[in-house]
Amino acid sequence: MLYRSRDELFALYDDLVSSHRLIATKSIIGTTVEGRSIPMYKFGNLQGGKILLDSTIHGEEDMGGEIFLLYARWILESTDPDAIAIRNGNCTMIIPCLNVDRYDIGTGEGYGRRNAHDVDLSRNFTYRWEASTDKYKGPSPASEPETQALINIFKNEKPIFYLNSHNGDRAYFAVYSDNSSRRTYAQQVYSKIVAEAQKRGIVTYGLSLNTAYNNPGLAVCDADLEGINSFLIEWDCWTTTPSDPLTDCNWVGHPAKPPFSSIQNYYFPRWLPIGIVWSRECAIPREWYPGYYIRWLLDRISGRDFLENFPIMAKQEHKT
Ligand SMILES: [Zn+2]
Repeated sequence: MLYRSRDELFALYDDLVSSHRLIATKSIIGTTVEGRSIPMYKFGNLQGGKILLDSTIHGEEDMGGEIFLLYARWILESTDPDAIAIRNGNCTMIIPCLNVDRYDIGTGEGYGRRNAHDVDLSRNFTYRWEASTDKYKGPSPASEPETQALINIFKNEKPIFYLNSHNGDRAYFAVYSDNSSRRTYAQQVYSKIVAEAQKRGIVTYGLSLNTAYNNPGLAVCDADLEGINSFLIEWDCWTTTPSDPLTDCNWVGHPAKPPFSSIQNYYFPRWLPIGIVWSRECAIPREWYPGYYIRWLLDRISGRDFLENFPIMAKQEHKT
């Protein structure tokens, strides 16, 4: 059961691009088993500090794509000082649906979890793939075109933060890393997320620490391999806060799912402290903004690619 069709969702992202040409782009990062395009959108300062957010690696787990649509609109249009800072200092990259073929097709366990080859993309990534005992991990590491498309983004874009998002029964937010300094950094950043949430009066997600080693074949583990701060979230249908209207809806395999209004009223605010703090962590310095827009203009006028060698990218240090 989906909030809307795949085409409707993509059309809303496309609308954001066509109404904000200077600060939004769309690219196709790959083609699915059944030949469909996998779109990725970039919002804000396209040369800013990079954050990669994805959704729907499991077909029908569409909450991320909806939450990030609101987030993208907030980045582009809000007068909130944090939104302005993010659109000036960060490039937010969103893949609203990785498992495009199965977004609105019910198969397997009552919903389209796996791709059109019946492979669970969330077990098909390369790191320790051999160690996985999952029946649906695929014939070989990164055998699937959707998996390859995401790995290429990890390698070519090198985002500072990456979030792989799922729908779950229970709230779950975790860093996956075998690198002790990245694990420590994740905890330091998390304390800032808690402070930001408190400032905004929001109950945010708890942070779990996971190794990549014990979780073979996950997208976050391949991202960790590339030195990216890699996290996984399960948007919960559940909360321990008694005052909250949502109860455990155990949505997997069941028709129940949080009401659509809760995307705006509950999940988007709950995500916001994470997005804001991650963006602050990797935003480019303010004095670099004007240079970027001047060069963007020169690109447009001359047809040359000034941005390719723009010093921002060389200067930007990778947090570990
Ligand atoms: Zn999932």
